[in-house]
Amino acid sequence: MSYRAPLSDIASALDAAGLQAALAEGLYGDLDRATVDSVLSEAGRFAADVIAPLNAVGDKFGTPFKDGRVTTPPGWKEAYTDWAAAGWNGLAAPADYGGQELPHAVNAACVEMWNSASMAFGIGPVLTMAAIDALAAYGTDALKRQYLEKLISGEWMGTMQLTEPQAGSDVGALRSKAVRASDGSYRITGSKIFITYGEHDLTSNIIHFVLARLPDAPPGTKGISLFLIPKILPDGTRNDLRAHSVEHKLGIHASPTCTMVYGDEGGAVGFLIGEEHKGMAAMFTMMNRARLAVGLQGVAIAERATQQALAYAHERKQGAAGAIIAYPDVKRMLLTMRALTAAARAICYATGVAIDRSLRGTSEAARKAAQERASLLTPVAKAFATDIGTEVASLGVQVHGGMGYIEETGAAQHVRDARIAAIYEGTNGIQAADLVARKVSLAGGNTVRLYLNELREIVKAVQASNAPAFGGTAPRLNEAVDSLERTTQWLLAQKTSDATLAGATPYLRLFGSAAGGCMLAAQALAAQREAGDGAGRTALARFFAENIAVQASGLERSVTEGAQSIGAADAALSA
Ligand SMILES: Cc1cc2nc3c(=O)[nH]c(=O)nc-3n(C[C@H](O)[C@H](O)[C@H](O)COP(=O)(O)OP(=O)(O)OC[C@H]3O[C@@H](n4cnc5c(N)ncnc54)[C@H](O)[C@@H]3O)c2cc1C
Repeated sequence: MSYRAPLSDIASALDAAGLQAALAEGLYGDLDRATVDSVLSEAGRFAADVIAPLNAVGDKFGTPFKDGRVTTPPGWKEAYTDWAAAGWNGLAAPADYGGQELPHAVNAACVEMWNSASMAFGIGPVLTMAAIDALAAYGTDALKRQYLEKLISGEWMGTMQLTEPQAGSDVGALRSKAVRASDGSYRITGSKIFITYGEHDLTSNIIHFVLARLPDAPPGTKGISLFLIPKILPDGTRNDLRAHSVEHKLGIHASPTCTMVYGDEGGAVGFLIGEEHKGMAAMFTMMNRARLAVGLQGVAIAERATQQALAYAHERKQGAAGAIIAYPDVKRMLLTMRALTAAARAICYATGVAIDRSLRGTSEAARKAAQERASLLTPVAKAFATDIGTEVASLGVQVHGGMGYIEETGAAQHVRDARIAAIYEGTNGIQAADLVARKVSLAGGNTVRLYLNELREIVKAVQASNAPAFGGTAPRLNEAVDSLERTTQWLLAQKTSDATLAGATPYLRLFGSAAGGCMLAAQALAAQREAGDGAGRTALARFFAENIAVQASGLERSVTEGAQSIGAADAALSA
């Protein structure tokens, strides 16, 4: 099944996320809307014409591993080379090193499209882009001169290496070692597991960003340093590192997931990024960008699954109604798919605009407030969007009936591919804990309060519009925002504890549902004003408010009242 870039939905979501306002303010210099639109449509064309046809091929071929080498599927290398040559890797990267310095929000839309076309293809560049951000922010000038240009052009790719067998969610438990060498570089020994694109044949060099511990490091995350470890050293020799094996896994078969070994011959040469023992700060820059991008993978796969299910529902004839799209239950599934996808997209793009404002805002205060907004929204973007990615892909199979379970239709691949996004870059459970334990209390709770006020303004505008097509949108969204506000206050009123963490996942879902519902309503209001696609966007916003946002009160109870039952249920969990 082919992919068509949903350019109108993307443009509407970008506007509601604040891109248009930022352009009008001159946040992006003289960049204008026409340029943004042409970038998006060219990205959509490349994604649909060049990458999407590789998705099924990649799934079947996988990444065979022999003698330490990974072979990517047929057509993969040519597509990657053309993609990089077209400048897509450096879209939001610094101009000083050959990037185009376009908005992160626009890059977010492009990342969505690459990943709709093929998630296994899209995840490689996601990690390179995250590495670029960390190197640009924390690297020495010498390292930037040596590596940034080729990472930005895509001539070399980057990896991100935290995980070890005993150190998954608990990164502080990692054991890879680094020792200082006399020339100012370091020697790294140890091994890493589950490393995405740790080895491959797409580029002539691979630049690994690896966490390790110095001998005098304090324990836990406070003693971790970040190292840049090139596969090929600047003098052209091979570094002391190798891929040991490639995993067999549920989905994203064309993305090689490698076990990496460092220091067979005494230690891989590594260069420090940031300060000794303070590698987590640089790694957080990298992880936050990658978390948004993984959220976008959720949106991406949901979009692709929705397009496919919608087309099938129009074609498949069953029973008296003719095409199955006539059945209310099938309509409900398709609307749920479309509404959740649009809501998750809106949250991810809003995070992208907040990142832009945090980098380009005109005052220190504006940049700080935007940084806090981005911090608040990032776990929601990652976890809400990837949860719905899995749900929507699964609904896509359901719409296909038995044919959905048969590999030939491609709907099953979406389910297999989508599943990892809720796990890597910090599991969704870790995202929810981050939201509850750290993000809600940012700026003494002011960051979240300001955000809630903005959601209220949208609800008021829907109310004031008096548009009959909105049906119960305003009251249902109002209830959802009430639930989110009460639950947030409940969280702010207490210290992080098992009781607050037990409700972290339903709280994140409540946050995503209330915010996503409001943002769909904002898009509908804008569409009504512009008399563009008002009917479709209003219908979708109404469906979301009346069918999905209404779950808010149940989620509220789950957060504020569910913890005791979890604490009291150990007897039900004896193995
Ligand atoms: C295909 C694939 C690609 C990957 N790519 C990379 C990569 O490129 N680089 C890299 O470094 N890693 C990568 N990973 C690793 C990935 O990031 C980890 O698998 C993930 O962070 C979870 O760690 P874990 O598997 O050890 O699970 P665990 O940490 O053992 O978690 C198991 C369960 O316990 C929960 N849990 C654990 N601790 C807590 C806690 N404190 N609070 C609440 N719940 C908790 C988790 O949410 C999860 O549900 C990849 C993994 C896969 C499968």
